[in-house]
Amino acid sequence: MSFSVPGPSPLPTAAQIDRRLRQILSADSAQTGDNAHTDRLMMMLTRSCELRCSYCFVALSEMHYGQDHPPERVTEGVPAGDLSLDTASRALDLLMTSEKPRLSVQLFGGEPTRRWDTLTGVLQLAEAHPRRGGRPLELQLTTNGVGLSDAQLAFLADSPAVVQLSVDGDATGNRFRRPHLPSAQRPEAQPEAITARLNAAGVRWFLNVTVPPAACDELPERYEQALKLKAPALQLNYATGMRFSDAQAEAYLMGLWRVLERDAQLHHPLNLMNWRNAADPAPLCGDVIVDVDGALMQVGGIFHERRFPTLRAAYSHGHLSEAERFEGRRASLLELWRRTKDALSPEEAEVFLSGMRLGAAQDLLCRVADRQLRPR
Ligand code: SF4
Repeated sequence: MSFSVPGPSPLPTAAQIDRRLRQILSADSAQTGDNAHTDRLMMMLTRSCELRCSYCFVALSEMHYGQDHPPERVTEGVPAGDLSLDTASRALDLLMTSEKPRLSVQLFGGEPTRRWDTLTGVLQLAEAHPRRGGRPLELQLTTNGVGLSDAQLAFLADSPAVVQLSVDGDATGNRFRRPHLPSAQRPEAQPEAITARLNAAGVRWFLNVTVPPAACDELPERYEQALKLKAPALQLNYATGMRFSDAQAEAYLMGLWRVLERDAQLHHPLNLMNWRNAADPAPLCGDVIVDVDGALMQVGGIFHERRFPTLRAAYSHGHLSEAERFEGRRASLLELWRRTKDALSPEEAEVFLSGMRLGAAQDLLCRVADRQLRPR
């Protein structure tokens, strides 16, 4: 990746990107590394989802939806069924062995709200866990919002959980990237309706936008959409596991720069989370996840299941049944990259590396924006 914008440009050079990536790897995750203040565990509640987003590489399945997977590790392939509350409870026990002063639980899928019974059970168990010891606990769930009922919204409004809502642009973008999204016959399933209901119910939420290479230039319009939707906060991301050409990476970064400029000019009408630096490069996320069968792994093993299937085994951290302490159940970013290179073909590793470099470039761009654009 190298950029060729004439004149003064906020875009980093290839040498700067490589240097920053080396720094990120050797410093480890600022979110979840040894020096971070938080330990975070993600939970895969189900592999069922009513959508099939074109950039989603999770091995979704409707097989055994609604059935709790026994706490036995599936050694080959991807487990079917859902996370049982018993397995989730053991995962919480493991997280609570952490010595860190802050904890975080993130519910993921599939569509986690499809197992509402487990979701509510986990939130209650986590909050009241005897080994929490009064520590701040961040609770978050990722949802497409399509199936949320009024009663569920009311529950969430009363809960400390923060909803990460993923939408995919306007109606056109939705048709292109979310082919299963209920169409205009279901206006209540469209982003405008979902976000209006979240706001009316008083749920704490933020908008999560992920663009694939084909939509690399859409960030400014996604920002405008977030303003129209009255999103309290916005996170802009690029899709992992996909190859951005140099021109697409440049368009993505320039779009992000324009968003940061506009946000600063508007005096931050929403909480644009990209201002905060030090996010892990998207493909190499430092988080640990428990799968529906109780297997523990680095989250990229699940995020990339259909794209880089060999990463599941390479990113394994064993099984809940053999884990006594949370400490030591995650890999440093450097270790993760070593495991990645060993598991992928040279061509796959090159695509993976290009995503890491885009993350490092994004980090540098946000740092420059923070210095140049943000009023002090
Ligand atoms: S809503 Fe989420 S889990 Fe479902 S297909 Fe889209 S990205 Fe994947």
